[in-house]
Parts: sequence; structure tokens; C-alpha cells
Amino acid sequence: MNTEDPIVIGWEEWISLPELGLPAIKAKADTGARTSSLHAFSIEPFSAGGKRMVRFGIRPITERPSIELYCTAELIGEREITSSNGRSEVRPIVRTKVRIAGEEWPIEVSLSNREGMTYRMLLGRSAMKGRMIVNPLASLKIGLLSREPSSYTTQRLVEVAASRGHLVEVINTTRCYMNITSRKPEVLIGGHSLEGFDAIIPRIGASVTFYGMAVVRQFELMGVYCVNGAQAIGRSRDKLYAHQLLAQAGVGMPATGMAHSPDDTLDLIQKVGGTPLVVKLLEGTQGKGVVLTETRKAAESVIGAFRGLRANILVQEFIKESGGADVRCFVIGNKVIAAMRRQGAEDDFRSNLHRGGKGEKIKITREERATAVKAAKTLGLNVAGVDLLQSVSGPRVLEVNSSPGLEGIEKVTGQDIASAVIEYVEANAHPKAATRKGARKRRAR
Ligand code: ADP
Ligand code: MG
Repeated sequence: MNTEDPIVIGWEEWISLPELGLPAIKAKADTGARTSSLHAFSIEPFSAGGKRMVRFGIRPITERPSIELYCTAELIGEREITSSNGRSEVRPIVRTKVRIAGEEWPIEVSLSNREGMTYRMLLGRSAMKGRMIVNPLASLKIGLLSREPSSYTTQRLVEVAASRGHLVEVINTTRCYMNITSRKPEVLIGGHSLEGFDAIIPRIGASVTFYGMAVVRQFELMGVYCVNGAQAIGRSRDKLYAHQLLAQAGVGMPATGMAHSPDDTLDLIQKVGGTPLVVKLLEGTQGKGVVLTETRKAAESVIGAFRGLRANILVQEFIKESGGADVRCFVIGNKVIAAMRRQGAEDDFRSNLHRGGKGEKIKITREERATAVKAAKTLGLNVAGVDLLQSVSGPRVLEVNSSPGLEGIEKVTGQDIASAVIEYVEANAHPKAATRKGARKRRAR
């Protein structure tokens, strides 16, 4: 093999040990260890034909411990090994060939029998030396589903992902098409198949929710890691459904009701605490279709008018003390990584920035933090914009946005949120296979 062209691997890589009869085992690169190690059991040395041999069992798939394989290898010695937890023990050492990204070379492996190890195999420095280098950010091929290639959010994500060595493609969601019946799911665009993606970042506008979800679902069927799944996007887009799920999970919300028949309007108004109250179109965004009604008469006529248009509506308790402001919490994984307070224009109770609201950076309370994270988790979103009102009795979640924009929050807080999103993708997407240096360029053509 040509050692000037090392294989670039991620921290975690599928490798094979052909001489041991192990076609695939997930290994972790452990640059802190010299010798590689294999998590074995029933380790039994024996002699055959004047050679010292060892027989041992392996459970190559952590998640499937019932799968056991037995291997035999030449025992080349014993060595005192200090493991990462500081304990040293004398372990048998075998020599065997490792196969990664089409290359094969012999390595020395110590056999250990330690329970609770996530990785069955650790690749030490001596195995990697001159052959491969670890790039923790091993290049990913990331697809950004967006219909707005020049929007601030798209540009920021593309710029950050590219600067971190990834290959990014902006995919126009509504230009994607699919053969639904095919046994091998695929997504096509302009006559070619979208292949080899390691991760998809969906940015699905409200107007294309239904189709966008279908595209995301198709990528999920292909086994591609999607930052937010189709189901979670659907849950957050349907405000009523989202409220039902949040209520069930015990997340604080303004009292909210819904009714179909006009006969129940009065009772519904009472149920959420009477007027003033907020009437919302279920499919509304950016503050459109959110109306504050001060009196019962006004509430009845607005509800009646929306009904006349056959629109689905929610009726909600008006949280007056929030004073026309709400709090946007940007959630990534289990953390709120940024938060801003948005204050509506002077004569507007709606704080949407699109409606002239102004943002300011704030430090949120522990309760607000926990509420935002719980809301995103409940809907199954890994990246979310959770909007809440500060009421006298604690945070009240208004909505959870599955494609939160970056412009407002980055400008207001001065934080680099695009990088946080890409870091999350790096930590959670799994590169398909070991790639050789330069493969990225070839793939990009
Ligand atoms: P949209 O999806 O259109 O943004 P929201 O439910 O987020 O709809 O409402 C828009 C804005 O109206 C909120 O950001 C908030 O400032 C204000 N608002 C909405 N519901 C209430 C409420 N129940 N009490 C007080 N203000 C509210
Ligand atoms: Mg809103």
C-alpha cells in the first residue's frame, strides 16, 4: 500500500479482521493507546504443531450479544497493558490482519475480557501508524433541504459545513421526486438519484410541510440520518397535535381549546377562562392568523368568521403579563444553546420579528430552560425553536418550530449557532465508510 496516501477515518469505523473470520466489527480509534485491543471472552491458550495458539470468543455486535463467533490465532506473547481507566493487566497478544477501506495490513491486538465496553475493538496508535489518520470530523456529505438557497440560514449552514471539511448540497425540496413503490428507496432530482448522503438537515417551510415530510421520510427509509425526522416535523407543524402532546407530557401551556360546532363556542370561551382571549388559525405562521379579542362579543364574531371560512382554529387564554413579548429558545439536542426575548411593536401583542418585533439577548431561568428542552424532546425534535411566554405561573410554551431560522437569533445574541448545528450533525451522523484522502474531491466531481 502507498503510505503517502493514508486512509482518513472517523473516531468510529467498521473494519474487518479477515484472518479471524470477522467480516465486520465496529472499532473506535484510540490514539491514547499503543496496542489495539479486542474485547474477547473464553480466552484459551493451547499448543498446536509447536506453535502457541489461542482460541477466544467474540460478540462483534454490541447490540446483539447473542451473536458469538469463535476465533483462533497465533499467540505471539503476553504484554502488560494499562487501560484507559488506569488499571494494568497482562494480556495475550495475537497478530492478525486488519482490513480497512480496501487495504490490509498486519496488526498486533491484545485480548481483554472487560465487561461494559461499548466498542468491541479499539484501534491503537501502532496499528494506525503511517496507514491512517483520524479525522474526528471525517468528511460528511450533508444535504440541506431548502427552497431558499440564498437565505441567511441556508448560507450560514452551508458556509460552516464547508469550512469544517464537509461536502454540502442544497436540495430543493419540491424538486425532489421519488419512486415510492421501489424496494430500494431513492430520491431523485432532475433525473439523477441523490445518493451517498450521510446526513440531511431539513428546512421545511410551512407551505410545503406535507411534501417536505414525504421527502424527509424517504431519506429516513434510505437509512440517512435526518436531524429532524418527518414524524417530529409533522407533530410540530400541527399546532393542535403539538399542544395535545405537550399537555400530555406536562409541559406548561396557555389554556387552549378547540371545538367544531358553533353551538359550543360560548362554553369553549368559558373553558379557557373567558375574554380577553386569543384566536389562532391552526396553520398560521409569523403571527398571521393570530387575533386578540377583548370582549366575548368580539371573540364570538371572530370565531364565527373563521368558521365561516372553514378554517381550523384554537382558542387560547391570553397571557397578558407577557406584555407583548415572548422568548425564543434555540434547542439543540438536550440544550438551549441561545435565547432571545422578542418584543412586539408598540401596538401589537404579537412579538414575531416578521411583524416588526425587536429581539434582545436574555439569560433564561432554569425552569424555562428545562421547559424548552422538554417541549422539543416531547415532539421528537433534535433542533428546534421553542417559543414561550413568561407568565406569572412560569413558562408557557406557545409553539415549537422544527425549522428555526438563524438570522434573528444569531444577530441578536452574537452566537455562532450554525456551527453548533453542524457539530451536532457531526456527533450524530455516521459516515458511511472509511474514505481515502481525496475521496471527497472525487465524489464531488
Ligand atoms: P405564529 O405561529 O403565527 O407565530 P404564535 O402562536 O407564535 O403564532 O403567536 C404569535 C405571537 O402572538 C406570539 O409570539 C406572542 O407574542 C403572541 N401570542 C400568541 N399567543 C398568545 C397568548 N396566548 N397570550 C399572549 N400572547 C400571545
Ligand atoms: Mg410564533
